[in-house]
Amino acid sequence: ESTVQRIAAGEVVERPASVVKELVENSLDAGASRIKVTVETGGKDGIRVSDDGRGIPEADLPRAVEEHATSKIRDIDDLEAGVGSLGFRGEALSTIGAVSRLTVRSRPQGGTTGAELTVEGGNVGEIQPAGCPEGTTVEVADLFFNTPARKKFLKRDSTEFDHINTVVSQYALANPDVAVTLSHNDRELFGTEGSGSLRSAVLSVYGREVAESMIEIEYSAGEDEPVDSITGLISHPETTRSTRAYLATFVNERYVTASALRGAVVDGYGGQLAVDRYPFAVLFVEVPPTAVDVNVHPRKTEVRFDHEDRVMELIGEAVERTLVDS
Ligand code: ADP
Ligand code: MG
Repeated sequence: ESTVQRIAAGEVVERPASVVKELVENSLDAGASRIKVTVETGGKDGIRVSDDGRGIPEADLPRAVEEHATSKIRDIDDLEAGVGSLGFRGEALSTIGAVSRLTVRSRPQGGTTGAELTVEGGNVGEIQPAGCPEGTTVEVADLFFNTPARKKFLKRDSTEFDHINTVVSQYALANPDVAVTLSHNDRELFGTEGSGSLRSAVLSVYGREVAESMIEIEYSAGEDEPVDSITGLISHPETTRSTRAYLATFVNERYVTASALRGAVVDGYGGQLAVDRYPFAVLFVEVPPTAVDVNVHPRKTEVRFDHEDRVMELIGEAVERTLVDS
């Protein structure tokens, strides 16, 4: 593959968790109702994501693994709004294929046969017939086999797996209507039901104790505020025993991280937490699309609000009110 491709790969694929994120997003984009993520040795030796989504017709397989302008953006307004389809670059599979041995196996919904295509270090193979159920399975083996410098930067298996676990957990929580399972070295970490219930998804991901201690948050901000609504689940201060904060925050359905968001949630507890105890929270913040820039960087999960201080104040207030009312 070309140097350009390798450099581009670094933008999309930083570590096994970045691969997992792209593959899970593709499965969600394909309308999957079940997504199975299986990884070996922290994702270094193997990553497999299977779904029951719409699948890829055999004739479209080469295009799927080649650099392309994604079909998922209809117009520039989609980009501006940062909403709708999750993928927006059309480069994930091609860049993953440039730095690994990638196999895409798929059978379209209603199709009678399946087919697969393998890419090794950017070299696209021949399409082969494949027996497989409806949907798509993407396998990534030997990540970074041809980019030793990048491979050297990978951390221990357990650390790489932690990153994968975080990514898959977030998507599972954000999509309670999709059954998401995660396994590492043949051990299943969690599997959500896909029943549509957020509490049930929390139970699968974080366990019974956490799920039962969660209280619902439902907050609508006033007119002209930079936030429309804040919904989700937060842990009750009395049953909050975690020494680490577990926050999954989504802005307009997109997973985001921001230390300010974490601070705002903790502030909302206003000293009700025991010393060194941190909350669990799954929060969906809806803001007017024009008041937020989620496309700061395609790989990053940062978010920029126009009125950041006010947004944080409102999040703190929403948490505080919920706790008072509970
Ligand atoms: P993008 O998602 O931005 O279009 P990708 O490189 O991630 O680019 O994927 C390339 C294309 O391959 C997608 O546009 C889609 O048509 C197809 N594709 C990838 N993964 C799946 C999947 N799990 N199910 C169905 N189609 C898929
Ligand atoms: Mg994609």
